[in-house]
Amino acid sequence: MDEPPLTAERLQRALTTRWVGRVYDYVEATGSTNDDLRGRAAADPALPAGAVLLAEYQSAGRGRLGRRWEAPPGSSLLFSVLLRPGWPAEQAAWLTMIAGLAAVAAIRGAIGPSPRVGLKWPNDVMIIVDDEPRKVGGILLDTALDGVGRIESVVVGIGLNVNTPAEALPAAATPPTSLPAATGRTYDRAALLAALLAALETGYEAAAAGRSPRADWDAELLTLGREVVVSYGDGREIVSGRAESTTDNGLLIVRDAAGALHTISAGDVSLRKER
Ligand code: ADP
Repeated sequence: MDEPPLTAERLQRALTTRWVGRVYDYVEATGSTNDDLRGRAAADPALPAGAVLLAEYQSAGRGRLGRRWEAPPGSSLLFSVLLRPGWPAEQAAWLTMIAGLAAVAAIRGAIGPSPRVGLKWPNDVMIIVDDEPRKVGGILLDTALDGVGRIESVVVGIGLNVNTPAEALPAAATPPTSLPAATGRTYDRAALLAALLAALETGYEAAAAGRSPRADWDAELLTLGREVVVSYGDGREIVSGRAESTTDNGLLIVRDAAGALHTISAGDVSLRKER
């Protein structure tokens, strides 16, 4: 990939935040930025909230449920952010919400209102391409709790297919896309990262002040109002029906054909194609 590497010098020129990304480390390749940053945070309790680790390539990038995140070197954004919220464990979903909203804001700022960017419950960043929701990114939280059930630290991992050529996207159950595949052009990765970190800082500070990100999250969830099938990681169906709403702790509420409500805490949601 011929893009300039996302070095600290390059990011600093674009960065507008006060504390997110001000401690920044860039590596060419690693196993997983989440694993590395979690290890660094464990080894160094003074590593500040807002520290970011970015890699141009991950050989063991992770998704949920032991699945893999795959991206060719140099074309995407693969990074992790350390936060130290001290919130109750039940509120971990707020971090998923804030990270998803930040990704949406940054991508929308780069590509504009069309094609539509949004989120798929709980942690996928999507772009609607030819009426079909396609996955452009994912979010993965690794939380560390203290002795009384609070989130002592959390590593928020974000992978976005920014400039990945269409032919380099991995085969996946949810069809993938990238910004060039969806819009026909490439983008400045440093500017996109800086915009995302700025939105993350703003969203985190609002949440830390007690304001729930849930209403904003609901507004970006392409899942709501749609007919969905929710299944376990192994493909067995849990429920199908209409995704109606979420709870403040990020659970999904699905109404089945008989009218019964189901509260979903984990699982794969597939969206039927829009008609
Ligand atoms: P989901 O939340 O959709 O279940 P995960 O968070 O588990 O997905 O992410 C891992 C999955 O994402 C993989 O199993 C694969 O199907 C898909 N995937 C892996 N790499 C990419 C990528 N670069 N772009 C889009 N999808 C990907």
